[in-house]
Amino acid sequence: MTDTGVTDTAVTGTAVTGTAVTGTAVTGTGATVHVGEFRAEVRDWLAAHVPAEPLPSVDTAEGFERHREWERELAAAGLAVISWPAEYGGRDASLLEWLAFEEEYYAAGAPARVGQNGLFLLAPTLFAHGTREQRDRLLPPMARADEIWAQAWSEPEAGSDLAALRSRAVATDGGWLLSGTKTWSSRAAFADRAFGLFRVSPGGRPPGDPPLGGPAPQSPRGPARKPRGQAPSAPGADERAAGKHEGLTYLLFGLRDPGVTVRPIRQLGGETGFAEIFLDDVFVPDANVVGAPGEGWRIAMSTASHERGLSLRSPGRFLAAAARLVELWQRTGDPADTATAQRVADAWIGARAYQLHTRATAARLADGGTLGAEASLGKVFWSELDIALHETALDLLGPRAEIRGERWLEGYLFALAGPIYAGTNEIQRTVIAERLLGLPRISRAPRAAR
Ligand SMILES: Cc1cc2nc3c(=O)[nH]c(=O)nc-3n(C[C@H](O)[C@H](O)[C@H](O)COP(=O)(O)OP(=O)(O)OC[C@H]3O[C@@H](n4cnc5c(N)ncnc54)[C@H](O)[C@@H]3O)c2cc1C
Repeated sequence: MTDTGVTDTAVTGTAVTGTAVTGTAVTGTGATVHVGEFRAEVRDWLAAHVPAEPLPSVDTAEGFERHREWERELAAAGLAVISWPAEYGGRDASLLEWLAFEEEYYAAGAPARVGQNGLFLLAPTLFAHGTREQRDRLLPPMARADEIWAQAWSEPEAGSDLAALRSRAVATDGGWLLSGTKTWSSRAAFADRAFGLFRVSPGGRPPGDPPLGGPAPQSPRGPARKPRGQAPSAPGADERAAGKHEGLTYLLFGLRDPGVTVRPIRQLGGETGFAEIFLDDVFVPDANVVGAPGEGWRIAMSTASHERGLSLRSPGRFLAAAARLVELWQRTGDPADTATAQRVADAWIGARAYQLHTRATAARLADGGTLGAEASLGKVFWSELDIALHETALDLLGPRAEIRGERWLEGYLFALAGPIYAGTNEIQRTVIAERLLGLPRISRAPRAAR
């Protein structure tokens, strides 16, 4: 449920002054490193390598491949996955170093991270819940951008209510047959592989109901495999009683596997990175289940906590945008317009507050804490900050903001999606109310069969 929109923060050479992560950090191995030295190394490398001209949009076929090349350049320099263990191409960097890297990355106006769904969402999930075999097999090609991942969670009738998803995994010899429809998958039109949630019946066995929408379709591509039971059913009363989260399973599949059809969705701006994914008896081996069958919801919530906070939207992005806004104000603002000056200051303060909050989270994680429902707080904060910041820039620019290709306008359009992707802000507010503030839970009547 992700996207990039890095262009909104991109401006080569803008330094984020006065806000930098400084000092020392203790790595997972106990070694003390100087964040300042690391920051200087990153800054120098970026100054020498960031393309002078912005790459074409990552949501176009050409732009996607250009961004893949950039990822490879980062990987060759040992900068693609700095927080990962060295055996997977990382540097065992601490969270503070990683935050410093992000600040430098955005301040330098470096290209969008085309591999972000894999790097920032799936990888942490594999470190927490995957097997050694999965990490060894999947992480190195992910780090080199040889395999770029898409997130296949949302469905036509399961967005906010993700657990209502209808895509199915039916046990078969040596693996699973996947069927169903996923939608709004960012860059799935060009990506290589996807991670998704699918429903199996309790115990990993398909229920004995009639198949969804008629007999299970035969895959037009690839060998037909005989399911280890009957075809999947629409959710029945038994499943609803058992709970919507039961049977959800976290599975990995190839976007060019037999039985997969990817249909691009054209966005308002004409780009086609978004896609629908149709799965028609797609075989995946048992080795591509993350966690155990039926554990998908718990594991998905682990992915979601990274998506809403810390790893997907680090403070560097907003610090760089706020620095650009201050610079725009200094260049174009009317000193007598104190109301706008106040909005500029608020945006800068908001970015700085998010940075401090994130550092506190990093310290908590370093002490063995976990990233849970609190990520929802950060998600509401950064998404609303992003809109306010861009609206202020557009007001400063006036009619000039309308010029096509104007970065603030592109950034604004993308910022508008912030309260939607990674789980809408309405849903995050419910999470905050119930799980952080302990307010009474909203009663949720059983969902009627669709
Ligand atoms: C830019 C972008 C990138 C995305 N990338 C991906 C991706 O890579 N992979 C992926 O799987 N999905 C992706 N998504 C999809 C995204 O996760 C969903 O759009 C989102 O979860 C909302 O689901 P929906 O669109 O079905 O809206 P709905 O769930 O139909 O919601 C419609 C409105 O009703 C509100 N609402 C719904 N239920 C409640 C409730 N219980 N209480 C209060 N309000 C409620 C919502 O907040 C929303 O305002 C992306 C979306 C965007 C905009």
